[in-house]
Amino acid sequence: MTSDLTLIGRFAPSPTGPLHFGSLVAACASYLDARSKEGKWLVRMEDIDKSREQAGAADAILQTLQVFGFEWDGEILWQSQRSDFYQDVLEQLKYAGLVYPCGCSRREIIACARVGLDGPVYPGFCREGLKNGKQPRAWRLRVDHQEICFTDQLQGRICHDLAANVGDFVLKRADGFFAYQLAVVIDDAEQGVTDVVRGADLLDSTTRQIFLQQLLGYHTPIYAHIPVARDASGLKLSKQNHAPALSLSNINQQLIQAFEFLGLEHQLFDADMPLYELWQTAIGLWKISGIKTAKHGACGQVYQRKLDPNSN
Ligand code: GLU
Repeated sequence: MTSDLTLIGRFAPSPTGPLHFGSLVAACASYLDARSKEGKWLVRMEDIDKSREQAGAADAILQTLQVFGFEWDGEILWQSQRSDFYQDVLEQLKYAGLVYPCGCSRREIIACARVGLDGPVYPGFCREGLKNGKQPRAWRLRVDHQEICFTDQLQGRICHDLAANVGDFVLKRADGFFAYQLAVVIDDAEQGVTDVVRGADLLDSTTRQIFLQQLLGYHTPIYAHIPVARDASGLKLSKQNHAPALSLSNINQQLIQAFEFLGLEHQLFDADMPLYELWQTAIGLWKISGIKTAKHGACGQVYQRKLDPNSN
């Protein structure tokens, strides 16, 4: 039985390609954090953006998680099956006058916008209604000049003025897909997620998510944004940058490398240990404060592939 105090963590991969070392680090961090506090750990497949999806990637991700010894609780939530819920929430926001249709193209926005936290700050052209026979393309949420602040377990206090740094942001895109920001907020609430541990590349999204949670009357989880893994040239390991997929052999070595990245450098780890024992050792050692962050002088760590090059 779970009490109200049970921690609920989650890993929410997008099936845009296979898991790589950066995703392994994020999965390990949220898993170790949840399991070390006897919490639940959920997997949510963020397969909402069909235009970026790679065929077979969702199954490959789940298979990789299994082979690496991750054990998730309950059913996997597939975002592609939840459009009706997202639409309902959008309708609520429409009814409350908090969203508006936008007819601007990306090119029009880029031509006039300042650069903000995460791309151009929307200049508000359609805020007071569509002009010059423009057709609605996307739905945007109105933001204002209040500061949204939170204290990240690793990155410290973060505050953003959304109007100045982001502008009214998209909840439903011109191509008809719901935006990540809306889906993630609805699903974290639906799944009762209490603790979000994920990559620092999402740090700047968090204040948007908290703003939405506040509008919708949802609980705000505790956040910890872990440093992103970079390759030797400083690029973030990502599917877009063609980071190498995790290998389905040498599981223990790859896990130990991820644990070390997360600050668990320990002589108790042994590449020949049974997988279960390796996990139990890491869970016993886990301390989120052991992770080195930019605050402590390391902005993202460099990951060097130390494994046997013939093992792939
Ligand atoms: N689906 C996102 C990704 O793969 C993660 C979303 C989240 O953890 O909030 O980058």
